[in-house]
Order: sequence, then structure tokens, then C-alpha cells
Amino acid sequence: MSKVLILEDDPQVAQLLQIALERKGHIALWAGSGQEALDYLPNTDLLALDLGLPDVDGVEFLNQVRRVRPRLPVLVLTAKDDEQTKVYCLEIGADDYMTKPFSVLEFTARVAALLRRTYGAPRLRVGGLLLDEDAHRATLEGKPLKLSKTEFALLRTLASAPGRVWTRNELLESVWGLGFDGTDRVVDVYINMLRKKLGDDPRDPRYIETMVGVGYRMLDARPKNPTLS
Ligand code: CA
Repeated sequence: MSKVLILEDDPQVAQLLQIALERKGHIALWAGSGQEALDYLPNTDLLALDLGLPDVDGVEFLNQVRRVRPRLPVLVLTAKDDEQTKVYCLEIGADDYMTKPFSVLEFTARVAALLRRTYGAPRLRVGGLLLDEDAHRATLEGKPLKLSKTEFALLRTLASAPGRVWTRNELLESVWGLGFDGTDRVVDVYINMLRKKLGDDPRDPRYIETMVGVGYRMLDARPKNPTLS
């Protein structure tokens, strides 16, 4: 679970990004001004920075950030898409940039890529379940689980935010992607396969709980939060 700070003066844009990040299991903080963002800065893993801000010049702010957090990954959001601005963003130390308007899915994908590049893939632990994304390996109580690519992705999504309820559509979007044109019943099929491999009884689940009429969630087994190690 990473903390992403969004510095964006448009509350509607900020809210969209915030919701999208939280869906991916991140903690999303929002600052509407440079001054506010400075308070959050020491305690953030990534900054999504809108260059067009009312109280401070975005580029000047980025320079300021670099003095305090030289290695903090920064994703610049800019309305200008001329080459000069893009090159300039990278030159002054942005790690990546996106030109508005952009897709929220691309945004969360770029955030994930930057976090991975900076900190490596997280290892997620929920109860006796351990997922190592780099090695693409999952173990249950120390014993390796043989999972297909899709099963692993589904389990990782659920385990990234224990307690959070995912609708079938959200799981489809996160695991199969927007290009998938089958029905959401595929989610149920894969959940059943995962349950078998986890030895999880749907009537008395330890890991994956069915939320009737809604979708699924990973039970918030001890430890309370997914552990990053
Ligand atoms: Ca703006």
C-alpha cells in the first residue's frame, strides 16, 4: 500500500484520480495548493504534480520537491503537450509525465510502474498467504501455490486491499483489462479455481468472501494490513 500525493487544483480531476488510486489499493492524499502539498511531502511515496497551479509555479515547486526529496518519484500532469514542455519536465527531474486529458487507467498504470521502478515490487502478506510480485510466486503457509498468470493477478488484486469489496466489473477491469469482451461470470469461475487452490470453503471462508449481490473481498485476516516487505 503506497501513499500517493496528488497536487491538483481541480477538485474534480483530483477526486477521479483519488478514487482510481484507492481502487488499486493505494492511499491517495490530495493537496489543492503547493503550500498544502509541502506538509504531506515528507510522508509520501509518489507525487502526481499538476504543473498549472494557482499559488505556485509547478516547475518551481518541482525544484523545491527535489531539494527535500531528491529521489521521490514524480509524475507530472500537464495541459501543455508541446515537445518543449515534455522535454523540460524530464530535464527538471520529473520521472514521467502525462498530458491532459488522459485516461485514469493509464494514470494508475504509470503510477504502478513508477512505484515499482523506485521501490521494487511489493510482497503482499495476508494471513498465511504471501505474494511475491517480482518472482510471480505465491505461497500459502510456506507451501508454493501453482497459479496461472490470471489467477495470480486476481489474487494479487484482492490481496492488495484486504477488506475492500470489489465488484465483478472492477475485478474484470483490473485483471482482464478493458479490452476483455466476455461476461463477468469469468470472475466467478476464477474465484472458484482460486478457492480450490487455497483450500478455502466459500461457506466459511478464510480468504475470499462472496459479498452477495456485490462481488468479492479478501478477508482482513491478521496481520490487519497487507505487509510490504
Ligand atoms: Ca491546474
